[in-house]
Amino acid sequence: MPGADCRETRSACPYCGTGCGVLLRPDGAGGLAVRGDPDHPANRGRLCSKGLALGETLGLEGRLLAPQVNGQETDWDSALDLVAARFRQAVDRHGPDSVGFYLSGQMLTEDYYVANKLIKGFLGSANIDTNSRLCMASTVAGHKRAFGTDTVPGTYDDLDQADLIVLAGSNLAWCHPVLYQRILAAREKRGTRLVVIDPRRTASCDQADMHLKLRAGSDVALFNRLLTALYEGGALDAEYLQHVEGLGGALESAFASDASVTGLSDSEIAAFCRLWMGTEKVVTIFSQGVNQSTSGTDKVNAILNCHLATGRIGKPGCGPFSVTGQPNAMGGREVGGLANMLACHMDLENRSHRAAVQEFWGAPAMPDRPGLKAVDLFRAAGDGRLKVLWIIHTNPAVTMPEADAVRAAIKACDFTVVSDITAATDTARLADVLLPAAAWAEKEGTVTNSDRTISRQRAVLPPPGQARADWDILADAGRRMGWSAAFDYQSPAQIFREHAALSGLAGSFGLDFDISGLSRISDSDYESLGPLRWPVSRNRQGGRFFADGQFFHPDGKARMLPVRWRPPASGPDRRYPFRLNTGRIRDQWHTMTRTGRAARLSGHLAEPFADIHPEDAQRLGVQPADLLRLSSPSGQAILRARITSDVQPGDLFVPIHWTGETAPSARVDTLVAAAVDPVSGQPESKAAVVAAERWQPA
Ligand code: SF4
Repeated sequence: MPGADCRETRSACPYCGTGCGVLLRPDGAGGLAVRGDPDHPANRGRLCSKGLALGETLGLEGRLLAPQVNGQETDWDSALDLVAARFRQAVDRHGPDSVGFYLSGQMLTEDYYVANKLIKGFLGSANIDTNSRLCMASTVAGHKRAFGTDTVPGTYDDLDQADLIVLAGSNLAWCHPVLYQRILAAREKRGTRLVVIDPRRTASCDQADMHLKLRAGSDVALFNRLLTALYEGGALDAEYLQHVEGLGGALESAFASDASVTGLSDSEIAAFCRLWMGTEKVVTIFSQGVNQSTSGTDKVNAILNCHLATGRIGKPGCGPFSVTGQPNAMGGREVGGLANMLACHMDLENRSHRAAVQEFWGAPAMPDRPGLKAVDLFRAAGDGRLKVLWIIHTNPAVTMPEADAVRAAIKACDFTVVSDITAATDTARLADVLLPAAAWAEKEGTVTNSDRTISRQRAVLPPPGQARADWDILADAGRRMGWSAAFDYQSPAQIFREHAALSGLAGSFGLDFDISGLSRISDSDYESLGPLRWPVSRNRQGGRFFADGQFFHPDGKARMLPVRWRPPASGPDRRYPFRLNTGRIRDQWHTMTRTGRAARLSGHLAEPFADIHPEDAQRLGVQPADLLRLSSPSGQAILRARITSDVQPGDLFVPIHWTGETAPSARVDTLVAAAVDPVSGQPESKAAVVAAERWQPA
């Protein structure tokens, strides 16, 4: 194993979608020594602060060690018999749509695969969704509309080779720090220019040549203006456009668009367009600022339109590039672990795809229409349509929009199962059955990062108490439900082989996700599997897509979409005059169940806060370190005020990490309305409306 000493185990960081390789060595005191894997193509030895602190997050305090039913410890047989019986009863009495799974982009691909197979193929329900719906669903929808499949065209190597990198709605410096370091290295080496498009001044702006501080939600108008500038400047690629349909409609919409809604000056927009047009190698990275919007899918397509029209896609140093928030959001997409997808990028609403998957699985049932996406899934739990729900490794009682309503919905559900590493989450407290799951360093499987690189995650510590791997728990439940043969899995390698073989069907339908070259991988080769980028098939190996102009729509062509700017679902008014933006900070991860254990990570920003512009602070009589009460139609939160011109007047920024456990008054997702993108179903987490006032404890 080059680059590692013989006591080290090669694995993958469990946080962001960069997918850094790590080398792990037990430190003899129950923890791990962690360093970056110099041979992993994503990070080449680099790690960010969160990755470096991984070894400090593994203590057993608070770990769930045994199954619980109604708060009482029990054994696995009793717990899983009950789970199996309640799922079967619900399906028998109320039909398959009465059950659902809510998963996490932090699950491993093998875990996701078994969950998707169990609910779609055997319970017959498509009600399987994931916190990835809150992360990148708009990108999935935008990719499918443009390319015919959910394909990330480029690779991380493009970041090293680009001459211009545009960060749209992405604070890469804090949210994907190792990718940002790659960009800084490219700046150093080849003078790569950097443009940041964000309503807020973030750490990513520190090195930027240009910061376009546009109004929240106006990205479509900006990229439509870029498209018209490219047309007027003669920068369209006529040869590449032979592989693209829809130029006329996209241009018509773009010319009808009004760039003034961005709030940017004409000269700022012109400078951006000139830079983009005058640079051959352009990568546009986009993330939650684009995705988490009621027009998220249109934003994605507005970006893709510009790259398709100029042929800046699929070539070294070129392309639109979605970066995922979670370590295995991509793996979840690959197995079809979303309510509107089938396995291996096949289509739930395509009769041939459905029949092929059903036959492959030997499945008794297969839904023929999409299930409930995240927001609707919890609404159905709240109004009695969904009777039985299984939540795995995620905490929707604090992370979903309108979190108070979601909490009430979980309470109202007849029967809720939660699999997690701890009982100390807001969601776990609501469970009828709690199942102890193995944690990151205790389980085996694979994850896929943002550039389609599959990495092995390896166990270096034994699961404590009775904790088990998720695939094992799900397969055991499937067998107890009566499907012994279909869920007779003995190892993650066996599941991976099945997943890889199934992907061959996608390949036979001419789709992108094909890892059938790994369908006969031996246990020992799976054990030693190094990072590799899909596709891995007889015909194709890794690399970029679309340089050849071959797309996955039936006619082989891409689509440019006519997209028009729409404002966010709610606009500020007299009652709720502020625009609320939510996001991550550098050193915490999600609801801090792991990063909250590392003291040095709390040293960066130790408590929840709300960024407010000095003009607004003065108007409200708010001094530095005062408390602010934010309220919206769906909830309220109390946070420390940070007065800063990083946010625009009328805007607020609040981090997402503090929860009912760590700061009961700071549950920001209670404030966010559950308005969703009509195509992707992704909630608008970056443009809620709230009232703000100075608050003093009574
Ligand atoms: Fe982990 Fe992301 Fe940091 Fe890499 S950049 S070490 S994947 S959190």
